[in-house]
Amino acid sequence: MKKLIAGGTVCAGALVVAAILVPAGIHGEPQSPDTENVIVVVIDGLRCYEAFHDSPASDYVRCMRDSLDPYATRYQNFWNNGVTQTLGGHLTLGTGTWQLMPNSLTYFGPDEDTVSTQPDKPTLFEYYNKAKGYGPSDNKAVYVGGKSWNDTLMCSVDPEYGRSDGGKVVIFPPHTEDWENVPGDTATYRVLINSVLGPHHPNLVLVNFKDVDKWGHKADTLDTTGTDDDYYRAIEVANSLVWELWKWIQGDATYAGKTTLIVTTDHGRHDDQHGGFWHHGGICHGCRHTFLIAAGPDTPSNTVVTRCAFQIDICPTVGELLGFWYPHARGSALSEMLDFDLSHQTGTNYGAGSGDVRVTSTDSISVSPQIASSSTGDTLHVVYVDKSAGKCEVKYKRSTNLGTSWGPDSTLSTGDELDSQLPSVCVLGDTVDVVWMGCNWHTDPTGAPLPDSVPRWYLYHCRSTNAGGSWGTRRAIQGSKYEQSPVRDKPSWSIWDPSVSRYGSSVVGISVCCTGSRRTRTR
Ligand SMILES: [Zn+2]
Ligand SMILES: [Zn+2]
Ligand SMILES: [Zn+2]
Repeated sequence: MKKLIAGGTVCAGALVVAAILVPAGIHGEPQSPDTENVIVVVIDGLRCYEAFHDSPASDYVRCMRDSLDPYATRYQNFWNNGVTQTLGGHLTLGTGTWQLMPNSLTYFGPDEDTVSTQPDKPTLFEYYNKAKGYGPSDNKAVYVGGKSWNDTLMCSVDPEYGRSDGGKVVIFPPHTEDWENVPGDTATYRVLINSVLGPHHPNLVLVNFKDVDKWGHKADTLDTTGTDDDYYRAIEVANSLVWELWKWIQGDATYAGKTTLIVTTDHGRHDDQHGGFWHHGGICHGCRHTFLIAAGPDTPSNTVVTRCAFQIDICPTVGELLGFWYPHARGSALSEMLDFDLSHQTGTNYGAGSGDVRVTSTDSISVSPQIASSSTGDTLHVVYVDKSAGKCEVKYKRSTNLGTSWGPDSTLSTGDELDSQLPSVCVLGDTVDVVWMGCNWHTDPTGAPLPDSVPRWYLYHCRSTNAGGSWGTRRAIQGSKYEQSPVRDKPSWSIWDPSVSRYGSSVVGISVCCTGSRRTRTR
């Protein structure tokens, strides 16, 4: 079913123009998207309690709640399971992979080196430009911000993609050492309209409105330059700019009826039990729980989706809307907001040579493989992530004939509630050790569910003592560190990217990356 949509004229009032239904294609005919352009707006660090945690939603987001929602599909149960900081959040939504990267600036100051932290997987800008044959100077895929160091999202270090496929960066306000006096989101919005959308009509735009995050941090009583009211006001401004943007799109001949608007946030902020909205970066409910609103020609109106969906789903969703494939993404397209037939990965060998042996066969994805061999080399052990059951699971297969053929798979991550990623394997004699990251709902110390639970990553270990013939039960080695009071001084962190190795017959070594939220500065 396709719909024509038009914007109303007032923020909080009733809709002026109702949705008009037009006939769908002949029954059975594949539907392709009407969307030709996607604009993703990130309201930086908008906490759920000031947005869509409750129903009805907060008055601070009344334009989105009362005016945009009737045109939109909104994901109520949307989560950042990665780093709840700006860089990690942007890289995650941009790549469709959990990018547990700490914040870093491209510019620390006149006496320090410039540092750029690019993702290891391609971004939606690279996917789009590469699929369409564009480059950064074609102005087809553009980042407009906000936060100047989000230029790290423009391209990855993936050698198959990179700078020549990357997006165009329009930083506004420009970087300045005078953080206190940089222009606000309204100025960013003007640049977006007058310098980017109006003259160039790019097909893919990501906009960062920075002020909610900025004023949230500055409301900390250690900082005398901001108040709680500044934070709330920044939310109201960003909220109204989203509605202004929607109306502008509907009034623009190039964009109207062909443009999907997606509004989300990169991360939340601490809930009141973990330090309150001043800061973020941990794994509490307030940091993790976000939202996503989408409206456009392929998106059902007036719809609220309550199932869990995740920040890694944004890149695949944009891919479906704009017709690019997203081979490295680990999320799934948000099917409820896409009123057309989705692409599926079928019938390709992805460049395998004629002598290669196919290890898995699935209508979903098998990714992140790791291999280990017995000392004689005749038995090979492979672990990988498989999504054919709907969520990612860590699976194991072995070959006892030098890889000529492979046995059935075993699922090692049974019991992981939400996600399973990044397996690592090692072998010593007949002992096979596997570790990975599994994501579950956070429980209290007794294991009982919490009323406002959050996704939390755990390091899991599983062992076979008969060369992969059978497996013991998985065991949690370490959980990510939850916020403790006082949050400003006590760090919380997520662990990530585990690697397992053996030292002699009795020692198993596991290394993990760790990224945290320790915050001693006031912004
Ligand atoms: Zn919430
Ligand atoms: Zn942020
Ligand atoms: Zn928190």
